[in-house]
Amino acid sequence: MNKIPEATPEVVEQTRAEAVADRVADVRERIEQACQRAGRDSSDLTIVAVSKTFPMSAIESGTQAGLTHFGENRARQLRDKAKARPGANEGGDVRWHMVGHLQTNKAKFVARHADWFDALDNERVADELNKRAGYNDRAIPCLVQVNITGQDQKYGLSPEEVHPFLDRMAEYERLDVRGLMAMASFIEDPDDRDVVREQFQTARALFDTYDASSNPQVDMAELSIGMSGDFEIAVEEGSTMVRIGSAIFGPRDYD
Ligand SMILES: *Cc1c(COP(=O)(O)O)cnc(C)c1O
Repeated sequence: MNKIPEATPEVVEQTRAEAVADRVADVRERIEQACQRAGRDSSDLTIVAVSKTFPMSAIESGTQAGLTHFGENRARQLRDKAKARPGANEGGDVRWHMVGHLQTNKAKFVARHADWFDALDNERVADELNKRAGYNDRAIPCLVQVNITGQDQKYGLSPEEVHPFLDRMAEYERLDVRGLMAMASFIEDPDDRDVVREQFQTARALFDTYDASSNPQVDMAELSIGMSGDFEIAVEEGSTMVRIGSAIFGPRDYD
């Protein structure tokens, strides 16, 4: 009979590392299959592992499983984690993405510690980040957030606002706009999948139709769509960056 090992901290860590490795393998396999259905090459996809609310040990488990991009949605948590394990911008080997809404008074944390800001949706934050990136003598890769749900949402530009906003980003020499980010509606039943697919197609169309040829600050390289509940649809619809939290780290207590 197998004796259940005592739950020492080491055993708990080991168990988590194995669970994360298994889930990452599963996510990679599902991405691979979605790519095959869509005739895409899975090497064109980046996984941003959304580690918000999880401790550094979970991030270490992620790096052991080969992950290099991590996402946080609170500026202070990102700062604390980037201090523990610096991102590429600070000489480290991982990349920290700020995936959540940013208040201007916390832009300093992102300008200093984030490798990417994935939720740009207003000029006040753009002004502040641009200025502070200058203090840090760097440029910040950014994604412009679009609201594709057709509902009033707190965050994200409406689809009509996206191209004019991208035009205005030409003035921000320290912001390197690399594409778009969007979140679809939550899938509650199978019929919602068609709605989510249409939402992702809205993002894809905005991504494909922007002409950046006369805008030195914009390079439409990345389309960040797809989370744990919908990443296969997003991959089929052209995602280049999936932001996956619970399917890698397990359930969260809160957001
Ligand atoms: C939390 C979060 C995610 C990941 O959510 P999961 O459903 O756990 O995969 C992705 N993007 C943003 C902006 C988030 O806040």
